Amino acid sequence: MINIVLFGPPGSGKGTQAQHLIEKYNLKQISTGDLFRFNIKNDTELGKLAKSYIDKGHLVPDEVTTDMLTEEVKKPTETNGFIFDGYPRTANQTQALERIVKKELNDDISICLSLVVEDEILVQRLLKRGETSGRTDDSNEEIIRSRITEYYTKTAEVAELYKQQGKYVEVNGVGEIDEIAAKLCAEVDKIK
Ligand code: AMP
Repeated sequence: MINIVLFGPPGSGKGTQAQHLIEKYNLKQISTGDLFRFNIKNDTELGKLAKSYIDKGHLVPDEVTTDMLTEEVKKPTETNGFIFDGYPRTANQTQALERIVKKELNDDISICLSLVVEDEILVQRLLKRGETSGRTDDSNEEIIRSRITEYYTKTAEVAELYKQQGKYVEVNGVGEIDEIAAKLCAEVDKIK
């Protein structure tokens, strides 16, 4: 199996790049952001709780996020592996993911691919996406900046943990989508 953590600040292109990797390697994507948005749309209890954090640009508490992710990993599926998009975002989640992948898939995380994009480009991309995405957390510059700050303060430790395991690879996330995809695939091919 290939189990990829796709890492990077909001607006770094994780969702777009995940699509390429899914097709090329036949993987299943699990995006915690998408799962929360699905719950918000369907007005579930989890959705209501998540919305109160997401609308402020804060992270949803680890426990609910991890429970939701576990349920998704447990669903039977024919796949060569998983792309975790937007999870883990804290050290606690990183350790939880290791346990979940071991217990449910009898496997390990293969690589953490980190998309690097400078802050001002992120803000511009997210404001632009907000014009059409309908996402409340993309429509306001203050919330966007809070999400980026949250990313750097809480997720730095995630990168550190994958670095210690020799699984952390940074890729420049600015440029043509296909070029970035090719660089990511080259990294995956090295570990296959
Ligand atoms: P995303 O689509 O990945 O940018 O996620 C949108 C929002 O959902 C984030 O700003 C967080 O509020 C919440 N969220 C998504 N994934 C996580 C996670 N792993 N841990 C905590 N909150 C999350």
